[in-house]
Amino acid sequence: MRDTVEILGVKIDKVTEEQALEIAKGFLKGDKVAKIYTPNPEIIMAAREDSDFKKILNDADLCTADGIGVVYGAKILKNPVPCRVAGFDLTCNLLDYMKDTEDSVFLFGAKPGVAKIAKQKLMEKYPGLKVAGTNDGYFSKGDIPAIVEKINNSGAKLLLVCLGMKKQEQWIAEYQSELKTVKLCMGVGGTLDVFAGDVKRAPKIFIKLNLEWFYRLMKQPSRIGRFAALPKFVIAVFKSKKGMKK
Ligand code: UDP
Repeated sequence: MRDTVEILGVKIDKVTEEQALEIAKGFLKGDKVAKIYTPNPEIIMAAREDSDFKKILNDADLCTADGIGVVYGAKILKNPVPCRVAGFDLTCNLLDYMKDTEDSVFLFGAKPGVAKIAKQKLMEKYPGLKVAGTNDGYFSKGDIPAIVEKINNSGAKLLLVCLGMKKQEQWIAEYQSELKTVKLCMGVGGTLDVFAGDVKRAPKIFIKLNLEWFYRLMKQPSRIGRFAALPKFVIAVFKSKKGMKK
């Protein structure tokens, strides 16, 4: 049974990093295609405006609190999650486990060339890791059958879908039934850019102080519009607690 807190209609699992990893490992051994999403405040706000997207998120097998905003949201609702479980960290932990197994991963998303560089870097970082294939994230609808075939032919057990929020979760929801060897799909945004070295993760001190968002804002000021979702999110959670709609 999942222990979740519902934040603005989106169910978030109350798990630690270790528990999330154990659950993900279990999915790789499962007999269906499991889905992990890692909502941040921006994703939850987008789901608030789009009920189909909300349904997709709530159809996940595990939804972790990516971002300190979500952790605070749960606290405001007096139903706290134990900690933040960032999609990037969960992915790293899972790949670290997979390097000692026969299970392989397929990297799907990001600009042309990025997934291939990420593959090289990952094989250096996790010696023994099997990266079964890559595909960039810029395609037309007509390309999708070939991409699905490529994923199926690769034999990958884990599929990292990095197409940006909403697009990646929608892709997984739409095509999961066509996946033949994949046991776990994870929608993990800009992860491949970080693996490839195109985007730097914040220094540990920022992460520890829950200031990773601030670091990203300094590095990519053009994202300011996206960060504006955070105060709106906090206000919306307070209002939802009081039973008000907007
Ligand atoms: N992306 C993609 N296809 C698209 C749009 C975006 O592959 O049609 C990739 C983009 O190149 C980047 C990632 O999706 O690697 C989105 O990264 P971001 O940090 O914006 O993730 P988000 O916060 O949206 O989950």
